[in-house]
Amino acid sequence: MSKTLKHIDDVIRVAPGAGASLSARDPVCDRLFPDKSEAEHATAADAEAIDALQDKLWAERKRALLVVLQGIDTSGKDGTVRGVFNRCGPLGVCVTSFGRPSEQELAHDYLWRVHVAMPKKGMIGVFNRSHYEDVLVVKVRGLAPSEVVEQRYDQINGFEKHLTENGVTILKFMLHISKDEQKQRLQERLDDPNKHWKFNPGDLEDRALWDDYQRAYDIMLERCSTEHAPWRVVPADKKWRRNAIIAAVVRATLEEMNPRYPEPEWKAGEFRIE
Ligand code: AMP
Ligand code: MG
Repeated sequence: MSKTLKHIDDVIRVAPGAGASLSARDPVCDRLFPDKSEAEHATAADAEAIDALQDKLWAERKRALLVVLQGIDTSGKDGTVRGVFNRCGPLGVCVTSFGRPSEQELAHDYLWRVHVAMPKKGMIGVFNRSHYEDVLVVKVRGLAPSEVVEQRYDQINGFEKHLTENGVTILKFMLHISKDEQKQRLQERLDDPNKHWKFNPGDLEDRALWDDYQRAYDIMLERCSTEHAPWRVVPADKKWRRNAIIAAVVRATLEEMNPRYPEPEWKAGEFRIE
């Protein structure tokens, strides 16, 4: 493991089986990337490197990378996609946002829509929300009986194990912001006409359920951080730090995957182009 990744993971990786207690985690966390301008430079360099590695991943076409982004409203899921994958060509990265399930999706099991959205070999897939909503909003708002939700943690672990055994490397990031920071970000959406479209009155209902969401996240982190797909809790009150951390982990993971351009079955010298 690279030194950078180890340094970051000492702070953000949720050890499998251990409690993650969000309340004990600092959403600012200046131990990582203390300097803003250095963080921004690192992010830009990592974004370039991610693009180059994705090119090899595609050429090789044997494996995929899935990046799961979870977090409450305004935690920065969209901003992360923009900040970390902005150098990647649109051919190589596929972003899927999961909203309230459609009638057709509800007619299937809850993992159906998620399995369909998995990145194919060679691709990086980014999930803006994910199957974890089925143990978060569904639990907090009582959209399914509690026994049904209870079974899902193990089902999700099994599903992710199946994926990793079939060539998908999974990175899961929980974007951790403070209640005060959310207040400010929601207020900006009300104050700035260009951000009105992002505001949804339902977000305030979820904010009123803040403690219930934090508890649901704690349980999710405790039950679904596994060796094959660990959770990472990203301090997300500072957008630039959040981006720097996630870009560094994605880059280090791709470097460990070490994709290579395939050897052609011909020699370049055999051909002459007239
Ligand atoms: P946004 O990410 O702001 O576009 O909002 C998407 C909304 O869809 C959020 O309020 C989520 O809680 C909700 N959502 C996502 N997945 C599910 C699900 N499986 N069941 C119910 N609501 C969901
Ligand atoms: Mg929203």
